[in-house]
Amino acid sequence: MQEDKTHDSMFRPVSITCAVILLIALALNVSGLVQLAPSGGQSDEASTTPTASEASAQLESEVGAFEITARQRQMAQQNEAGYDVIDAGRGNPNWINSMVRRVYARLMDFAIDESERVYSEGFMAGQAQREGIGERFDAATNTEDGVSAYLAGLVNYCSSNLGLDRDDVLFELVNGIIGDYYPTPSRCLPNTEVILNAYLQSTLYGGVDLAAETDVFPTEGGSAAMSYIFHSLSHNKVLKPGDKIAIATPIFTPYLQIPDVNNYGLVSIEVASEAYNGWDIAEDELAKLEDPEVKAFFLVNPSNPASHALSEQTIDRIAQAVEKNPNLIVLTDDVYGTFVNDFRTVYSRIPHNTILVYSFSKLHGVTGWRTGLIAMNRDNVVDRLIRELPQEDKDLLEDEYSIVADYPASMPFIERIVADSRSIGLYHTSGLSTPSQVFMDIMALSHLVSPDADGYMELANATVSERYYTLMRALGMPTDDAPANARYYTLVDIRSLVTQRYGWDFAVWFDEQMTDFEFLDELAAKKGVVLMYGPGFDAPEGCVRISVANISNDQCTELARRVLELLDEHYGTYAAQIADAA
Ligand SMILES: *Cc1c(COP(=O)(O)O)cnc(C)c1O
Repeated sequence: MQEDKTHDSMFRPVSITCAVILLIALALNVSGLVQLAPSGGQSDEASTTPTASEASAQLESEVGAFEITARQRQMAQQNEAGYDVIDAGRGNPNWINSMVRRVYARLMDFAIDESERVYSEGFMAGQAQREGIGERFDAATNTEDGVSAYLAGLVNYCSSNLGLDRDDVLFELVNGIIGDYYPTPSRCLPNTEVILNAYLQSTLYGGVDLAAETDVFPTEGGSAAMSYIFHSLSHNKVLKPGDKIAIATPIFTPYLQIPDVNNYGLVSIEVASEAYNGWDIAEDELAKLEDPEVKAFFLVNPSNPASHALSEQTIDRIAQAVEKNPNLIVLTDDVYGTFVNDFRTVYSRIPHNTILVYSFSKLHGVTGWRTGLIAMNRDNVVDRLIRELPQEDKDLLEDEYSIVADYPASMPFIERIVADSRSIGLYHTSGLSTPSQVFMDIMALSHLVSPDADGYMELANATVSERYYTLMRALGMPTDDAPANARYYTLVDIRSLVTQRYGWDFAVWFDEQMTDFEFLDELAAKKGVVLMYGPGFDAPEGCVRISVANISNDQCTELARRVLELLDEHYGTYAAQIADAA
């Protein structure tokens, strides 16, 4: 009897534990043992136990969206139809910027020549010298060669447009790419900071001049930026256990998970955006930020998964909230900023309250490089909040930072982030690897040399745009032509697709048959298509995230065809049932 029950629950999960077992079994690919639990219409199911749908909803809330997708990716490999896998789950683009890499290689060659010029024996070379570096660079530049000439253009831009000393820039680039010195200063190489500031100014600030008052800390991607910020806000007691933080939802899952899993003890409230509103944030949601109990506001703009930029009006409304709640810390993650024309970051509107995160990962196809950054105004609310901490807390922190700083009390928050990133004690060897900083320089400069007609950026935007329209037309869904739509991702509401294509009665039947979660499992297992589960980002039920950045235009058409093929199959089952009943 006891054994029977256990056996039964393996097939129809009735508790969270069983749901977890189900997940593990699926992850281990015991597909013969564990079937997708049939849901709905099972009359023998006890009414007091959760249905399979409820159990899987529970499961989904315990496991991150990215982990669910990883499992579906495995299922897709052995899909029933034997199709090639179409993976529209990844945020990674399927393109790269080739020129910045060629320029990097050319610069590396020049830098090695510079080292060998000083000393060379076997595989051993010396350390590059500043003296005369500009003349040698000019001599090495081959104007007939496109890459060499382009590199020279980037270097010249630094002196002619950014007011930097050309030899200084070259020496920093050469030493940086060779990587034979610790990053000095730890936070950011000096010329690099000017270049990155000019880039942020050009791409994100919407004409507001902030480059000269912004500190930059290059990090191992936006990921490191996020985790460093959360850690240092907590470590510096700016965010304390019990503090309320607002999160603009739907959002990139880590923003929901990090506060939870790190014992920061923060209480999250949602500031939601919705499809009907073009994924902008409604007035009453923004009003929540006025509450002084709300200490911080985390947002992704343009958003992920909804892929829309905030309107000017919303940014103004956030600024108004800050007037009422002047201690509010806003963290804006603008990694998709360049995918919207005339984008404007929240940082440009409320620079003294905002921490900016940016990453080159998506635009340049450099997720493996780990190149992102944190930018903060020199006059910012976090430094003030640290100054206003209870004396006891300040003493404790001063004590800690005194091992690396002469004046720990006045150590700016962004420097504390740098120190914290290496457990304070290793502050002197902290900072992003210098070759990575140089690569960021090249990416930034490749935009700056032609900011108004950045052919690469236009190509990236046109690429995701074309795929978006192909996908939506193939699905027979209405398109969203708003300029705020970055189109890097698309949230597709499967429920409304079903209703629109097959009518209301089928939609109700379909809804009883399976959860979205189960639909995505089926799509992977039967048709080899991987999408992401919307509610994992706190997007509404029914929404799935499709990353067109990761699939070709043809794959967009094929993806839509497979989704409709699967839905048609369900419709066939439904029609047969109706016919039987009649
Ligand atoms: C992809 C992504 C990141 C991570 O960027 P990396 O630089 O690759 O670490 C950060 N934030 C959002 C919203 C993203 O989509």
